[in-house]
Amino acid sequence: MCGIVGYIGKEEALPVLLDGLKRLEYRGYDSSGVVVLGEKVNFEKTAGRVSALEKKVSKNNFFGNIGIAHTRWATHGKPTKTNAHPHTGCKKEFFIVHNGIIENYKELKKELEEKGHKFSSQTDSEVFAHLIEEEFKDYHNFEAAFKGAVSKIKGAFGIVAVHKSDLEKILIAKKSSPILIGVGDGEHIIASDIAAILGRTKEIIYLGDNEIAVCEKNNIRISNLKNEAVGKKVHKVDISLEEAEKGHFETFMKKEIFEAPEVIKNAVRGRLIESEGTSKFGGLDDISERLKDIKKIMIVACGTSYYAGLLAKYWLEDFAQIPTTVEIASEFKDRKASIDKSTLLIAISQSGETADTIGALKEVKAKKILTLGIVNVVGSTISRETDAGIYNRAGPEISVASTKAFISQATVLALLTLFFARQKTMSLSEGKELILEIKNLHGKIGQILSNQKNIENIAKKYFKYKNFIYLGKKYNFPIALEGALKLKEISYIHAEGYAGGELKHGPIALVDKDFPVFCIATKGSSYNKMLATIEEVKARGGKVICIATSGDKKISKIADDVVFIPKSSEMLSPILSVIPMQFFAYFVARYLKKDIDKPRNLAKSVTVE
Ligand code: GLU
Repeated sequence: MCGIVGYIGKEEALPVLLDGLKRLEYRGYDSSGVVVLGEKVNFEKTAGRVSALEKKVSKNNFFGNIGIAHTRWATHGKPTKTNAHPHTGCKKEFFIVHNGIIENYKELKKELEEKGHKFSSQTDSEVFAHLIEEEFKDYHNFEAAFKGAVSKIKGAFGIVAVHKSDLEKILIAKKSSPILIGVGDGEHIIASDIAAILGRTKEIIYLGDNEIAVCEKNNIRISNLKNEAVGKKVHKVDISLEEAEKGHFETFMKKEIFEAPEVIKNAVRGRLIESEGTSKFGGLDDISERLKDIKKIMIVACGTSYYAGLLAKYWLEDFAQIPTTVEIASEFKDRKASIDKSTLLIAISQSGETADTIGALKEVKAKKILTLGIVNVVGSTISRETDAGIYNRAGPEISVASTKAFISQATVLALLTLFFARQKTMSLSEGKELILEIKNLHGKIGQILSNQKNIENIAKKYFKYKNFIYLGKKYNFPIALEGALKLKEISYIHAEGYAGGELKHGPIALVDKDFPVFCIATKGSSYNKMLATIEEVKARGGKVICIATSGDKKISKIADDVVFIPKSSEMLSPILSVIPMQFFAYFVARYLKKDIDKPRNLAKSVTVE
């Protein structure tokens, strides 16, 4: 998610905070805000770019040596001025900035409203400012009230807070979202990303999960939730700003592939009802009645999002028995698809600004069809134009070729399938089993990521080939298409994806020693058929690269090269098998010395039809 900057020291806070915010802009943002405490409270927020905030604050005298600032990447509530951070409580005494998601904010908000608190934003974050205010009534102490508030929230957070009557300290809490503290000469700079600190100091303390820090000008105290002091090392970092933006990764694409475990956790956070073996989505509350009448689903999308949609078609028909069609958005607009009021239209788009998908959406809206958006960017056109929405919460995706957004789309669609399936024939125990599988996904992806060297070696062997075929069956058929697309996009090598069974109906004519075939042959109901297909390729002298389930000895004997992935349910196996595909394309492109993050002729968000 997006950026936090905090400052306490002997200098004016505002320039340090604005400079920090600007250095975080590369991550994407939709609004920003700042509070500086001095003789008075200086507080400003705005939708849009950091430069818009800068213009606003320069007109005022924002004097003070302590302050916090934020660039938001919305997860709850549109990117408006009101929803921008910092947030404050009813009495405007405490100010907070937050990165992440407070899972139990709805329950907390209800309790606080019952106690008389008035909320002004739609965010999950605002609840924390009111919580401190409420706790302060008991403790009359900022630190104790802050800790009390932290003990009440669930989810992921990096939170930084200040109190208008205590200009001596900034309080920080962390769980899952990153928070770093730069130790300067008589000052501390707090940030969610090292890029915002490097301009001032290279001495960094990394706050750990469930740790709370009290930052003063010349002193810092860190404790755990049990109030026990935690000793921390100050790290001396020696990296450039550009390196900082990409972490230790050479490209954004690689960084984003490595974000997959976190992306899955964020997509799932707060969306499971484990005791009932099902899922829930805040975004569907308003249409829950209308959803009961749905008999068909139509998905419209483009590119990678289209393949996520195709995967969902297989899932929705297999597990929820809802007839589902997937349409390429640009085609949908030009023909008369059979669609009526019993159809739910799902529009999938990372940016939420894909012109073809918006065009398709407008077409069906005129027919009063129920529409649902699955988008990553909160407040985007598709999120505004649909009746209901589910956000991916994957954070900004900078690489043009989509990787983590696909992972989050697939995860959200798996949750949506569970939601519908449990209303149909899926039993409670099957639902619970699927939930367990979903919860294990991020750990399994971690194992695949640690195997990148193996995939790199395979890429080294194959990067000079001019053509590839990708094959997969059933749930892994869309992954074969996505794998081929990834290779095309970033390495400019010709690659075609096919359903495994289609090979013999034409494409096999292409196969010879110069035409490698990339097969997804994980264990499941189509495993034996994929084995037969692999034999057909081998019989024609073709080279075979396989993605297989770990422990499969048969595959090693017939394939030329194998990437093993952990065992999983057949349904969720595509979320795992796509990772080696992304890696393979990545390493091939790197060996070919292509501009991986910005492939030629492509744009991140295709806003023209
Ligand atoms: N969940 C919070 C919001 O939507 C924080 C988002 C962020 O990390 O920028 O406001």
